[in-house]
Amino acid sequence: MDVIVAAPPVITPSEPPSGAFLLAAGLRARGIEAGFLDLSLAFFRHIFGSAPSGRGMPDVASALRYLEENEAYTPQGHRTASGTLNSAMGNFSRLFPGWRLTLMDASPPVPVHDPHGVAVLCEGGETPFKGFWNEYLLPVLERHKPSRVFISISYLSQLAAGIELAGYLRTRGFDFLVGGSLPNSLSRTGNGFRLLKEVIPETVTGDGSEVLGAESRERMLDRLDWPLMIRDWDYISGRPVIPFALTTGCYWNRCLFCPDSDWQLEVFGEEVLSRFLDTVPSELMERRPILHFIDSAVPPGPLRRALPFLEERGLDFYTFARPEPWLPGMARDLSSAGCLMLQMGVESGSRTLLDRYCKGIDPDDSLRALRSCAEEGIRTYAYMLLGLPGESEEDIGSSLELLTKAGDSLDFINLSIFNLPEHCRLVSMAAEFGIELLDPPESEDCIRLYRPFLYRGRNPRVPARRRIADGFSSIPSVARALRRTPRWFRTSHFPMMQVDGRRS
Ligand code: SF4
Repeated sequence: MDVIVAAPPVITPSEPPSGAFLLAAGLRARGIEAGFLDLSLAFFRHIFGSAPSGRGMPDVASALRYLEENEAYTPQGHRTASGTLNSAMGNFSRLFPGWRLTLMDASPPVPVHDPHGVAVLCEGGETPFKGFWNEYLLPVLERHKPSRVFISISYLSQLAAGIELAGYLRTRGFDFLVGGSLPNSLSRTGNGFRLLKEVIPETVTGDGSEVLGAESRERMLDRLDWPLMIRDWDYISGRPVIPFALTTGCYWNRCLFCPDSDWQLEVFGEEVLSRFLDTVPSELMERRPILHFIDSAVPPGPLRRALPFLEERGLDFYTFARPEPWLPGMARDLSSAGCLMLQMGVESGSRTLLDRYCKGIDPDDSLRALRSCAEEGIRTYAYMLLGLPGESEEDIGSSLELLTKAGDSLDFINLSIFNLPEHCRLVSMAAEFGIELLDPPESEDCIRLYRPFLYRGRNPRVPARRRIADGFSSIPSVARALRRTPRWFRTSHFPMMQVDGRRS
């Protein structure tokens, strides 16, 4: 085999990690024998497969049955099953003092932001991954004999295992590279790429197209074929969820605190989607897959042009869309083409606050978008952002009013607290906005995507946290949406949650 593209643990076991999966698909479409290996999924299966059973132990087998054999979940059923699997992760973690593993995270007993510390830890002692490399990974590498391994790291939750995996491959003489969205973000807009590179000199940035040769100008996502799957498709999900990107970057690209503002919009034609769909294995197509468009904010044009392809093949999908004036008018077409859910960056009900940070969203449009989608049977997932510098009680009141008016149009909700990206336009204009940038509490030598700040001498994150507990959660529709919103498996399972009046 030419290449194995591998994603280290821990990343959600409900759908393929998009970075590694799409890179393997891109290489495959160019005739490169590229295998996709989700080591995180294999790691979860390894833990669940050996979890002790019996009295007082989590019933892992029943939990897996519930999540794998149902195409629709109830909030209670999902909570119980995912809680059971998470308890099994907790029990496994206890074998490795100081480590904490969940369905979405792996924290070592040293700060994960310190790659040198993590590397020393992994070299020195027992870790949750050490046995797994020998038991599972080594036989795979010996069987497939890849000329090169790509390790794709998207989240901090994969960093400890990624560092250990790099050391493991190096000592055994495998040729490998490390890349992915985490190293890309650290080098573009964060802090600490240099540190990562010191620990893993094989770290590179980019979308992987350097493998295609210096003279190639083609973007990796211009051609995608179903990758060679090194293990069976055994994701923990009632329906297969397949990641895909219609675009990268963002067509709005003006929000002042966006960490990706230097990332220009790239659109991949619908023929890329059509070609890719033609290569999805028929046994997977028979299981009613759901396409997960991972775009930061899908523009109306590419989305509309993709609809006939989706409708023709009877494929369901979900994606992230900005709640703009075009959305209500498209809701019916989206629904009939198979849209099960839209994630929407509503962020605030205050026009003043949204304008101040150049969000380009109007709260009335957000309300209309939520209502129209719900009317057409599309699940809605609203992302609210609290604790923006300068957010007043009046602004919070406007957000509460918006959510109250949205009522049962609101299916899922994320109440998050503002983090200031390490590098963004707002940081360069901090003083103008009354923001005082603080030195990070850790030493400079750490990986960091965000930086601490004060607004007029205060940290707005503190009252925001309080308001979530005492204001937002007491609105009945918000409370219902919070109870319905799954805590684990990221968004993969959301389109399968049963919600009255929404399509399935
Ligand atoms: S909509 Fe999102 S991705 Fe686009 S500019 Fe704003 S924050 Fe960035």
